[in-house]
Amino acid sequence: MEEKNHFEAFKARQEASQAETLRKAGKTARLPHELADAAHALAAKFVAKEGAAVKTACEEGCSYCCHQPATVFPFEAIRIARVLKESLSNERLEALEEKMKSRVKGLKGASVRKNINDKTACPLLVDDCCSIYANRPLTCRLAHSFSVKRCRVSFQKDRTKVEIPISLELLTGISGIIEGAFERLPEKGLDANLYELCSAVLAALADPDAAAKWAKGDRRVFEGCVRDDT
Ligand code: SF4
Repeated sequence: MEEKNHFEAFKARQEASQAETLRKAGKTARLPHELADAAHALAAKFVAKEGAAVKTACEEGCSYCCHQPATVFPFEAIRIARVLKESLSNERLEALEEKMKSRVKGLKGASVRKNINDKTACPLLVDDCCSIYANRPLTCRLAHSFSVKRCRVSFQKDRTKVEIPISLELLTGISGIIEGAFERLPEKGLDANLYELCSAVLAALADPDAAAKWAKGDRRVFEGCVRDDT
């Protein structure tokens, strides 16, 4: 399994380097989208195969893990913003933006970790299903469990005190893909911080040039967003 994880991470690194080629070719506006699509496709393939093999308790309609702050990389937030703009009417997008603003306000500016016990539903959760499932953040793809009961208890009590039984294979595999997707970005001067999902998607929605700016190393797009580690 370790060999395979390294392989998956390696493949993601290759995708990152392809994204770099796009950047060099001046196709900067496409770069975050290509990088997010490549990493998400790789993660989906890995989860479909390994998830089926290890038989987790996760199934459609179970959303305990979507009732806590989520995180996202800038290139994913830009991709999600584009998907929302393309798929929602102006009215629905405005309503979603209001929900996301309210979510960010509720986090009171503290880090995601400090708000881990905020049990508010993710604004992108619709009828207990993720409305952007194919484009959901890499960190959301880490969430899985062998016990619905433990997830329920952690939702009802203090999350930091309830251990969720998980698959080490799935965790390390997805972590490898995440690492592969972002590890070369800082050395290229690109923002590879993890931000709270709603604040980052709102920032990407607000700036029509977010993709090109991020790809040029301009950090102003996400500078006001809630960080994962502050
Ligand atoms: S983005 Fe989707 S998977 Fe992630 S927390 Fe929100 S609803 Fe859940």
